[in-house]
Amino acid sequence: MDPEKYCRVHLAERIDFTDDLAVFRFRPDEALPFTPGQYATLGLDVEGRERPLLRPYSVASAPHEDVLDFFVERLEDGSLTPRLWDLEPGDTGWVRRRIVGLFTLDRESGRPRHLMGATVTGVAPFVSIARAHQHALSNGDHSGEPPRMLVVHGASHPRELGFYHEELATLEREGWLRYVPTISRPWEHPDWDGETGRVGDVLRKHADAEDFTARNAVAYACGHPGMIENAHAILERAGFDEEHLHEEKYFRA
Ligand SMILES: Cc1cc2nc3c(=O)[nH]c(=O)nc-3n(C[C@H](O)[C@H](O)[C@H](O)COP(=O)(O)OP(=O)(O)OC[C@H]3O[C@@H](n4cnc5c(N)ncnc54)[C@H](O)[C@@H]3O)c2cc1C
Repeated sequence: MDPEKYCRVHLAERIDFTDDLAVFRFRPDEALPFTPGQYATLGLDVEGRERPLLRPYSVASAPHEDVLDFFVERLEDGSLTPRLWDLEPGDTGWVRRRIVGLFTLDRESGRPRHLMGATVTGVAPFVSIARAHQHALSNGDHSGEPPRMLVVHGASHPRELGFYHEELATLEREGWLRYVPTISRPWEHPDWDGETGRVGDVLRKHADAEDFTARNAVAYACGHPGMIENAHAILERAGFDEEHLHEEKYFRA
């Protein structure tokens, strides 16, 4: 592995939410700078392969943290994710030094509101953005107009929202972020009193209710390509143009 390009990372902790959803918390040998919302290329050494097996993952932690968190879904027939699930704390991998991507908070538009939709692990970039913003606020950095965020986070079951459900609900009390979880199998969770149904529909409902419009907001969608296409169509009908619709598709449908 070219040490100029890749940094050694050590698994510090792993938090399993379900059999196939977990946060992998890696500690890099050196600090790796990035902008909240970007993705890292994570690699694992695989026996018989000359080069590590690499896949992109949105960073869920914020730049001020000394770890890199990845919220990952295991694919039964996947190449990298079953190997990730074999890792235990102390095991190592690689992360490309250049953490990249354009799926970051759009400040250039000058719009103060940010409408964000995610399926399950697609919440990662929004968590990074929210954590970084909260960190800046707690350090007294109030430069510029403070962004307002509305995050709709969809899953089939509540446990798939992970600890981000509690984390973002707690941040909501600060007033600059609204967190709306939605589940698609509510009949299996009679105690669930939150939203139900598809991310795109819930996004539209809460955008209308909270005045996130095509004039004052930028929209973002991250995760499953089906949700992104559905949300795109709904937001287009609400007047959002391509310039103010940002997308991060995790795979091709
Ligand atoms: C910019 C970017 C950021 C990403 N961030 C994340 C992240 O934060 N968390 C995360 O879990 N994944 C993320 N992904 C997806 C990730 O890179 C891998 O594709 C995924 O983990 C599967 O890897 P694998 O090697 O196990 O499966 P592969 O062997 O690469 O994939 C097997 C097949 O499954 C498809 N596939 C990939 N992901 C899914 C899925 N979720 N559901 C159904 N089919 C799928 C692939 O297109 C391929 O056809 C991201 C992808 C991109 C492009």
